[in-house]
Amino acid sequence: MTIKNYINGAYCMPSSQDWLDVINPSVGEIYGQLPNSNREDVQLAYEAAKKAFPEWSKTSVEKRSAILAKIADLIEDNLEVLAKAESMDNGKPLSLAKTVDIPRAATNFRFFSQAITQFYSESHEQIAAKSINFTLRQPIGVVGCISPWNLPLYLFTWKIAPALAAGNCVLAKPSEVTPYTAFLLAELCSKAGLPKGVLNIVNGLGSSTGQAIVEHPNIKAISFTGGTKTGAHIARTAAPLFKKLSLELGGKNPNIIFADCDYDKMLTTTVKSAFANQGQICLCGSRIFVEASMYEQFKTDFVKKVKQLKVGLPSKEDSDLGALVSEDHLEKVLSYVEKAKQEKMNILYGGEKLTIENGKNGYYMQPTIIEVSSNDCILNQEEIFGPIVTLMAFENDKEALALANTTSYGLSATVWTNNLKRSLHFSEHLETGIVWVNSWMQRDLRTPFGGQKNSGVGREGGFEVLRFFTEAKNICINYE
Ligand code: NDP
Repeated sequence: MTIKNYINGAYCMPSSQDWLDVINPSVGEIYGQLPNSNREDVQLAYEAAKKAFPEWSKTSVEKRSAILAKIADLIEDNLEVLAKAESMDNGKPLSLAKTVDIPRAATNFRFFSQAITQFYSESHEQIAAKSINFTLRQPIGVVGCISPWNLPLYLFTWKIAPALAAGNCVLAKPSEVTPYTAFLLAELCSKAGLPKGVLNIVNGLGSSTGQAIVEHPNIKAISFTGGTKTGAHIARTAAPLFKKLSLELGGKNPNIIFADCDYDKMLTTTVKSAFANQGQICLCGSRIFVEASMYEQFKTDFVKKVKQLKVGLPSKEDSDLGALVSEDHLEKVLSYVEKAKQEKMNILYGGEKLTIENGKNGYYMQPTIIEVSSNDCILNQEEIFGPIVTLMAFENDKEALALANTTSYGLSATVWTNNLKRSLHFSEHLETGIVWVNSWMQRDLRTPFGGQKNSGVGREGGFEVLRFFTEAKNICINYE
C-alpha cells in the first residue's frame, strides 16, 4: 500500500523519494508507506494551487456548491471503503467510523455546499454623510489546512470544505499517523469535478512538511487542529508573517453532574463522553465532578457500566473500544497510570495494557477510572487524550464551578442538572467555548466551534469559518 501526494489533480511521488511507514494499530504492523514530503513538494503544491486560484475564486457559487455536494455524495457512496480504511489506520471501531466519522465527512461537504449559498456580507449607510459602505468577502488565495489523527477524515474535511466553498485553493496535510482516508478522498474530489490544483494534499511529518506549509510566505492563512504545544509553535512561526490563524487545540473538559439530573440519560452519556474513540476526542469529558450527595451511587454504577465495555478488534461489531492510535501514544497514556500509582491515587477500574486475540501486537488498554482528591493533580491538569477519566466529589455549585474552571484549557464542558437557573449560571461562567447542558457532542454545524484559554484561538463552523477563510474589504462610496 503506497500513499501518494495529490498535487495538481494527480497522485504523485515525493521529490526526495523519502518514505515513512504507516502502521495498523490494531495489530501493530506496518501496512504501507507514505511520502515524507519536503519543501520542494510543498512548493510544487503551492504553485499548482496558485495557478488554480484565479479561476476557482471566480467560479460561481452555484458551481462550487454543486461540486462540493457531489463530493459529499461520493463519500456516502464509498462509506464502506472509507470506514474500513479509517478504522484500520486509526484503530477506532469500524462501527464508529461507519456511523460517525465518514458520515460526518460527507455532512461537512454537504453543509458548506449549502452554507456558501447563504453567506452574505454587510452594508452600512451613513445618511448624513451621504455615503454607503459595503463589505466584500473575498477568498484569501492559497490556504493551509493541518489536521490531527484522532478523527482523521472528519476533521480534515471540516477544514477543507469551508476553505474550498469560500473560493480558496488549499494545501492540506493530514496527520502522518493517519493519512489513508485523505488519500482516498483525493480521487473522489477529482471524480466530482474539482478542478486540478484547487485541492492539494501533501503528506509528511509535522516538523518538516507541516512546518514548510506554515512558513511558506505566500500561504496567507493556516487552519490548524492539534495539540496546544504544536499550536503555540505554529503561532510563533506564523505571527511575524502576518498570517490569519485558526487554532483548535487541546482540552481537559469537565463533566459536572448534579444530583437533580436525569440519572439514566446522564450515566449512559457519561460513559460515551469518557471513552468514545478510546477517549481520543478533544471534547471527551475527562474530569468528572459529581455532587457529593450521590457520589457513591454514581461511582458504583459508573464502574459497573464501564466494566461491561468490550475492548476488541476494531473490525468486530461488538467492540466498544478499539486500539489506541500508536505505540508511543499508548505508552504516554499508560505513563499517567504509573503517575497515579506513584501518587497513591485510587484506581477504581482498568489501568492495564491488554492483549487481544488476533491483534496481539496492537495498542490496547482498559478503559480506566481513577478517583482523585484534588483537582491540582497532574491527571486533572494535563491532557491525556486516552481512555482515562478521573472522578471527584464536590459539595456545592460554587465549588463545582471553581473546579471546572481551574485548568489552563477551555474547550468544552458538560453540566447535568434540571435546575434552569443553575444551568444558565454555569453556561455564563464556565470558561469554555462550548457548554453542553444535559447532552454531549450534540453538534449543529451552524454553531461556532472552538475553545478559550489554551484550547485555541478563533472559531470554526457555520459562517464563522467562512469569515475566517475570506478577507473582508470595506468599500465606502460617497454620493453627495
Ligand atoms: P499534533 O499537534 O501533534 O499534530 C497535529 C497536526 O499538526 C499533525 O498533522 C502534525 O503532523 C502537524 N504538525 C506537527 N508539528 C507541526 C509543525 N511544526 N508545523 C506544522 N504542522 C505540524 O496533534 P495530534 O495529531 O497528536 O492530535 C492530538 C491533539 O489534537 C490533542 O491535543 C487534541 O486535543 C487536539 N485536538 C483538538 C481538537 C479541537 O477541535 N480543539 C479536535 C481534535 C484534536 P504529524 O502528525 O506528522 O506530527
